[in-house]
Amino acid sequence: MMPHPICSISRRLIVLIVLINASCFGFAPSAPRASPPRRTLPAQLACDPRFAYDTPASIAIVGAGPAGIAAAISLSKLYPSSAISLIDETPDPKFFDMTKSYLQLVDFRGLSFIDRHLSSASVKLEDISIPNNEFIIQVLETDLPKPPIPLPIVDSNRPTPYWVQRGHFVKLLSNSLPESVSTFYGSKVSKVEYVSSKDSYEVSFSSSSDDLSFLHENDLDKVEANLIVAADGKNSFIRENTFEQPTTQRRNSPAGKLRFKALQVRADFTAYANSSDVLQSDPSNAYAVRSVKKGYDTKLDLGILPIKSTASSLLSLPVNKCRPANIITRDDHFIQSANANDLQDFFEDSFPQLSFSGKISVIEKGEFSRFANSPGTVFPHPQHAKRLKTTASPNSGVVLIGDAAHAFPPDIAQGINAALVDVLELESALSSTNHNSLADALCSYQKVRMPETKALVRLAQISNPFQYKQTGFMSKLRQKLWTANFITRLVLHKFFPQVFSANAFFALQSEASYVKILRRCDRTTALLSTITASLLFLLSSKKLIPG
Ligand SMILES: Cc1cc2nc3c(=O)[nH]c(=O)nc-3n(C[C@H](O)[C@H](O)[C@H](O)COP(=O)(O)OP(=O)(O)OC[C@H]3O[C@@H](n4cnc5c(N)ncnc54)[C@H](O)[C@@H]3O)c2cc1C
Repeated sequence: MMPHPICSISRRLIVLIVLINASCFGFAPSAPRASPPRRTLPAQLACDPRFAYDTPASIAIVGAGPAGIAAAISLSKLYPSSAISLIDETPDPKFFDMTKSYLQLVDFRGLSFIDRHLSSASVKLEDISIPNNEFIIQVLETDLPKPPIPLPIVDSNRPTPYWVQRGHFVKLLSNSLPESVSTFYGSKVSKVEYVSSKDSYEVSFSSSSDDLSFLHENDLDKVEANLIVAADGKNSFIRENTFEQPTTQRRNSPAGKLRFKALQVRADFTAYANSSDVLQSDPSNAYAVRSVKKGYDTKLDLGILPIKSTASSLLSLPVNKCRPANIITRDDHFIQSANANDLQDFFEDSFPQLSFSGKISVIEKGEFSRFANSPGTVFPHPQHAKRLKTTASPNSGVVLIGDAAHAFPPDIAQGINAALVDVLELESALSSTNHNSLADALCSYQKVRMPETKALVRLAQISNPFQYKQTGFMSKLRQKLWTANFITRLVLHKFFPQVFSANAFFALQSEASYVKILRRCDRTTALLSTITASLLFLLSSKKLIPG
C-alpha cells in the first residue's frame, strides 16, 4: 500500500527532526598562538563625520564564537578607526574541541550576513558545506537498511540552507577578520567595571588555563572599552556582571537539560559489513542508525549528518576523516556515565549493523575513551535576556548578541542564524544617522531586536521539542500529543492556508520575522482551542438533552 502523503511527509520530517541537531566533529588541538602584545587600549571618543554621535574609540568583543567574530567583522568596517579587541577563553577558536564540533544548518538569515560581509572571501560557504536539498537520509535498521528518503524542500523561493561543521564555519568567519582586530585567545574575562572618570569599561582577563599562562605577562590583562559586545554564550559573564538582576527570563522545554555527545565515526563508515547487504556510506549523505535496545535508559539512536569531505583542506585545517554521530539523551542514560569498556559492549549490543572493532570498525582506536571522558554539552532551557543593552553614560554601554541574548536547545536550528541577524541589526542601529549618542543607537537595537528575541525563544519552546525521542511514559505521551497536533495543523494548513498556519518549524524556513510566525501560530492555537471547546460543548449538550 502506498503511504499516505502526510505519513510520508511526516516520516521524512521525523527523520529530519531526529537528525536536525547535533553532531560533533573534532579537530586536533592546535598549538597555542604566539603571545599577543600586552597592552591597555585607550578609550577616548572618536569623531566620525558619518555619525551624529561620538563613535566608540575602543570596543571589546567578549567571546569569539560565531556571534563574536561576526560582530568583529561588522564593527571593524563600521568604525575603521576604533580599536577593536576580540577576547576568548579558548586557545584558538578556529580549532574547536569535539564537544563543540557539531553540524549546523545555516539558513537564509545567516546567509544574509555572509552575503553582506563575506562575499569577497576566497573560500565560500558553499565550498565547505552540504546544501539541505542535495542529500538523502537513510535509516539503518538493525537488520536491513530502509530505502533512502530525499529531504523535503520547504520553500523553493528561499535560498537553500547549508549544513556546515561548526569548526569550519568559525574558521570561515575568522578568515575574514581584518588584521586591525586585536585577538586575545586563551583569555578568560573575569572582571568588568565601569570607570566613570574615564567614561569607559575596564575588561580584565587572565589566562584561561595554566598551560596558556605564558600568553599573559601579568596575572590580569585588561582593555578599556566604550562599547562592550557580549558574545560570550548562554552563561554570559558580561551579562551577569553588568546588567540588572535577574538578567534572564526562562521557559521550560522538554528538550532542556538533555545532554549531547558525539561519537566520532569514520566519514565513509561501512554498515552491515558481515552480511550480503554491505553498505558503504557516503559522507555527503545522512544516516539514522536504529538501536536494538528499547529500555528507558538504554534506547539510543545515532544521527549522522552529511559533511563536505574537502572542507578541512580548503580551510587549511587538519584533516579529520571522521564525522559526528549525534547522541542526545537524558543525564541518567547509561552512556552518560559508562566507561570505555562498557561503552564498547553497549554499542556492540545495540547496533549489530555496525562494527566497533577490527578493520571494519566504524570508529578509530581510543574513541570510546575520548567519548567517556567528554562532558558533552547540556542543552539549556529556552531563555532570553530581559534587556539587550545597558548603558553607563550616553557614550558607553554593553550590548548582548547571540546566545548571550537568547539560548535554547538546537531544535529549530536558529542559534547561529539569529546571532548573525543580531549582528546585522546592531550594525544597522549603530550606522543610523538619526542617533545623537551611542546609548540612543543601542536603544534602537533593543527596540528592534527584543520582540524578535522573545518570539524566537517562545518558538524554540513550542516548535519541535520532542525530536530527541525522549524516553519515559510522560514524555512519550506528550510526544504523541505533539505529533497529533503537528499533523492536524499540517492538514488544516494544506486545505486552508489562509486560516491555519502549519507548525512553526516550516514557517521558520520561509518567514524572516519570528514575531509574525509566532503570531500566526498563536492565532491557529486559539482557533483550534475554540473549535475543540465548541465541539465538546455540542457533544455534552446533546448528551444532557436526551432525544
Ligand atoms: C548540538 C548543537 C547543534 C546546533 N545546531 C545548530 C544549527 O543547526 N543551526 C543554528 O543556527 N544553531 C545551532 N546550534 C546553536 C549554535 O551553536 C549556537 O547558538 C551558537 O554557537 C551561538 O553562538 P555564540 O557566538 O553566541 O555563542 P558560543 O558559540 O557559545 O560562543 C561563545 C564564546 O564565548 C567564549 N567565552 C565564554 N565565556 C567567556 C569568558 N568569560 N571569557 C572569554 N571568553 C568567553 C567561549 O569560549 C565561546 O567561544 C547548535 C548547538 C548545539 C549545541
